Amino acid sequence: MADCLFCKIVEGKIPARKLLEDDQCVAFHDINGQAPVHVLVVPRRHIGSLDELSAADDALMGALMRKAAQVAKELNVADDGYRTVVNTGANAGQTVFHIHVHVMGGRALGWPPG
Ligand code: AMP
Ligand code: ZN
Repeated sequence: MADCLFCKIVEGKIPARKLLEDDQCVAFHDINGQAPVHVLVVPRRHIGSLDELSAADDALMGALMRKAAQVAKELNVADDGYRTVVNTGANAGQTVFHIHVHVMGGRALGWPPG
């Protein structure tokens, strides 16, 4: 999608601290990390949010979640625990409309979130 920040990061048109890539997804460090580990995992293909998913995306979303777990392991936060978050829409504070899984860890995270 032409005007999408995360599509541009996926395509390498905007720099990001990329951590892992495969044929389906890309993981990169959040530019404004809220925890010692704060990584975003995105599909290469543009999907705006959870609201746009169809059954054809089930395998892709499964791969995205497994990639999130791989990120946590590689950054050594899996043993202590970590949080995966997908914000959807205004009340959740979604600001980038290319679906992404936040992977946050490295400190105790409060619950419920604000
Ligand atoms: P959300 O509020 O769930 O849509 O999350 C968007 C996230 O993208 C925020 O945590 C931002 O800090 C992060 N972000 C925005 N621009 C960039 C960028 N250029 N590189 C990496 N992360 C970014
Ligand atoms: Zn996009």
